[in-house]
Amino acid sequence: MTVLRTCFSHLVMEFSSALKELLHFPQNVAIFSHRNPDGDAIGSSLAMLHYLEQYGHTVHVLFPSEYPEEFEFLPGAEDILIWDIHTEECKQLLKRKNVFIFLDFNAYNRIDKMGELVRSLPGQRILIDHHLYPEPMADFMFSDSSASSTCELVYRFISGLGDSQKINPTVGVCIFTGLITDTGSFRHATNSSVYRIAADLVDRGVDDTAVQDRIFNSQKEKHLRLLGHCLANRMEYLPEFRTALIWLSRKDYEQFEIQRGDTEGIVNYLLTMKDVRLAAFIHNQPTIVKLSLRSKGDLDVQEICRTHFNGGGHKNAAGAYSHDSLKVTLQKFKDLLPQIKETLWKVN
Ligand code: 5GP
Ligand code: MN
Repeated sequence: MTVLRTCFSHLVMEFSSALKELLHFPQNVAIFSHRNPDGDAIGSSLAMLHYLEQYGHTVHVLFPSEYPEEFEFLPGAEDILIWDIHTEECKQLLKRKNVFIFLDFNAYNRIDKMGELVRSLPGQRILIDHHLYPEPMADFMFSDSSASSTCELVYRFISGLGDSQKINPTVGVCIFTGLITDTGSFRHATNSSVYRIAADLVDRGVDDTAVQDRIFNSQKEKHLRLLGHCLANRMEYLPEFRTALIWLSRKDYEQFEIQRGDTEGIVNYLLTMKDVRLAAFIHNQPTIVKLSLRSKGDLDVQEICRTHFNGGGHKNAAGAYSHDSLKVTLQKFKDLLPQIKETLWKVN
């Protein structure tokens, strides 16, 4: 029953009776999201957990790696199992699961080693995601790359099944988290229904100001000092290509004791510069070099990540990993710029 189509509401309706049959009897469910989970990954996973628990399912959320501290306040975050830390427990638990739900990612390699195990296990699979080019990895594929966030799709999934009344403040706060983190607090909403969903969530009791405050005003001193270092000492501006980049070496990682989440959002500062249309954050993590690209308008960074660095994501926000050195990766990125120069100058 693997189907790839983008008309999301239509799909939910089409699968509604099969899904209801599956979800209206107690199941043993595992919910997954991607490595380095962001607000949308965590929000969509916890929203789905709190929705399904209302039907009496046994539900666990599993991530390959840890999530940033600013999301610890979300209901249920304390019970999330991290494969990197609780590997044995995850393995034992997964063997008992019969429904697997994949949120905010669309390829097994995005959940690393856990993906290899999950791929081999029997069970029903549901995917809800908004990234481009999904792998046909589920029985129920809800993939819509025009959506702002996976949280938007989770809202539409629950509503589409006629369960709007189950979107209580607990589910709502989780959905709201993904809406604001993936849209940069509604600066790039991608479609008008995002605002309607946000308004509905506030009507249902979500304290929008408090959530924004918890997530965005929770930086540590260390984080601001790192940002200062990036902007003062590690930023390169290439006006000819309307591009700006920031790089961080392994030494920087040691000096600033960089941990999970500490570099989140730094790339976005580059796009606030007047003429910049392409922004890159390229940093030497302890084992690999990570790239985060952001763009404006028609410049497709997902294409760049996929074609040249085996990564992926969205048109204007994408990422990848490289096993080359930082120096080689930086050069590889800079060598691409002449090829896209024309497009860069066409973007408004
Ligand atoms: P970030 O740059 O914030 O890590 O990620 C930006 C977007 O690209 C996110 O939607 C994220 O899921 C996606 N992304 C980041 N790294 C990778 C990667 O290595 N592979 C793929 N396929 N997507 C990625
Ligand atoms: Mn997302």
